[in-house]
Amino acid sequence: MTLCTDWDYGFSRRPEQWSKDKTRQSPIDIDTANLQEGEDRRLTFDYREADVKLLLKSPKLELKPMTEGAWGAISVDGKNWTLDSVHAHAPGEHSVNGDLYPGEVHFVHKPQGDESKEPPLLVVGAFLAYQEDSLVLPFEKYLKNGAGYKYKSGELELHPGHPFDPYQILPKKPSAYYAYKGSLTTPPCDERVEFLLLKNPVLVTPDSLRGFDEWFPGGTNRPIQPRFQRPVFLHK
Ligand SMILES: [Zn+2]
Repeated sequence: MTLCTDWDYGFSRRPEQWSKDKTRQSPIDIDTANLQEGEDRRLTFDYREADVKLLLKSPKLELKPMTEGAWGAISVDGKNWTLDSVHAHAPGEHSVNGDLYPGEVHFVHKPQGDESKEPPLLVVGAFLAYQEDSLVLPFEKYLKNGAGYKYKSGELELHPGHPFDPYQILPKKPSAYYAYKGSLTTPPCDERVEFLLLKNPVLVTPDSLRGFDEWFPGGTNRPIQPRFQRPVFLHK
């Protein structure tokens, strides 16, 4: 059965056991020969730079703005979604034609003005690909320079005293994306997530994800889940 509260990526509480008998789980494989053409659905980014805090609750590391909503929002079909948090997986979670990228960043958005406890979520996924002399991911810098920190209900909260600009880890042309309806990829694996996976990867230096390998040996990606009959749309 689903293990919801006590979990990790290791052997004893492995991801295969997190959820069974559900039909719209994530991640999935994106089979580019089996896509549906998406209707015109413009994705617009209106992100802003603002101070970051890190929430470290093994096995998860999450970036959040110090002030809720300070990182701005995206708009899809004229509806606004506030950027709530950012985290990364290494290797990537969604595969494209069977291949995983070295990493995948998830930008988690909530409907603007929705105060409900379990709102629908819109997750923009950016694949990370390696290229020499490209972007160095800021995650390690934040951890190394963790100035002030405090424990809060089992979470380590770090205040590195740095701003974070979400645009930094978006691909150059973020307009084309794959869209499908899925779930959280960590327990409780709730099926209230729509994924917009940006087609073009973000290029990062090959040592950008080394810290992840050290903190989380064995990876932080959930295995690929069955797609069943779910359509996957390509929006250009
Ligand atoms: Zn994620």
